[in-house]
Amino acid sequence: MTDVRNLAASRDALILAHYYQTMDIQRAAGAVGDSFELAKKAASAPQKTLIFCGVRFMAESAKILCPDKTVILPVQDAGCPMADMVTPDDVRKLREKHPGAAVMAYVNTSAEVKAVCDICCTSSSAERVARSLQEEEIIFLPDKNLGAFVAARVPEKRFILFDGHCPIHHRVTADDVNAARNQYPGARILLHPECPPEAVALADGAGSTSWILQQVEQTPPGSRFIIGTEEGIIERLRETAPGRECFILKPGFVCEDMKKTTHDDVVRALNGEIPAVTLDKALMEQARKSLTRMMAVG
Ligand code: SF4
Repeated sequence: MTDVRNLAASRDALILAHYYQTMDIQRAAGAVGDSFELAKKAASAPQKTLIFCGVRFMAESAKILCPDKTVILPVQDAGCPMADMVTPDDVRKLREKHPGAAVMAYVNTSAEVKAVCDICCTSSSAERVARSLQEEEIIFLPDKNLGAFVAARVPEKRFILFDGHCPIHHRVTADDVNAARNQYPGARILLHPECPPEAVALADGAGSTSWILQQVEQTPPGSRFIIGTEEGIIERLRETAPGRECFILKPGFVCEDMKKTTHDDVVRALNGEIPAVTLDKALMEQARKSLTRMMAVG
């Protein structure tokens, strides 16, 4: 099997992998993280080429932030169904209906949508981004669940929520949380805020993927957790937090698009057999404004 780390070094390439990628891809990567961490890594990477093992909106964001670099998404059809739920036309209509409101877009959006928004956010930064805005009214898109989560924590703002969702996290119900609590007594339940609010309300805590990882990693061995996000996290925690018991909230918690990338795809990307991400220059300039504004909030 080709040693992709050596191959990447010889190509002056950095392999970036999202926490939801398979463990063999995460092990091969030079940087692993959630959307926010990877955007920061991409922006500061010295390498000329970025191999983005994730889904399309992430590779697009890397290209927008680093227009002079070659950015390759190893699997061309790895997309995000939530990102596909909102279009620039939806944003235009919402702006007409709510003049004066700021438009805050989760990074899980296309470059075209980012180009017509005021600021982006990730699940790690959404609360800080909302507080940073001067406008009292915020149009939040596309995830109504993350929007509701932020709205509850930033009560001084009025939120208008777009009706989008992540098909993987949105399946979680309050009954699932109650059933898991009965099945694993004493375990702390941690959910991703893309889960519906009624489920999040019953959890012991909710936050981004990196927040969930930290919660588990910072507790002493012997602790028990029920995790409500993509199940790849459980496998990662077996390596980074040995001795903690982690159970997935419900079976089938899998993002198929995130699991499409294989070792061979990464090798093909490094060998230049997969076309690089290309975006219109003017589109990138517009979309970069909302991404860099997010990065400045931190
Ligand atoms: S887990 Fe949900 S939000 Fe994340 S990439 Fe998959 S479909 Fe999109």
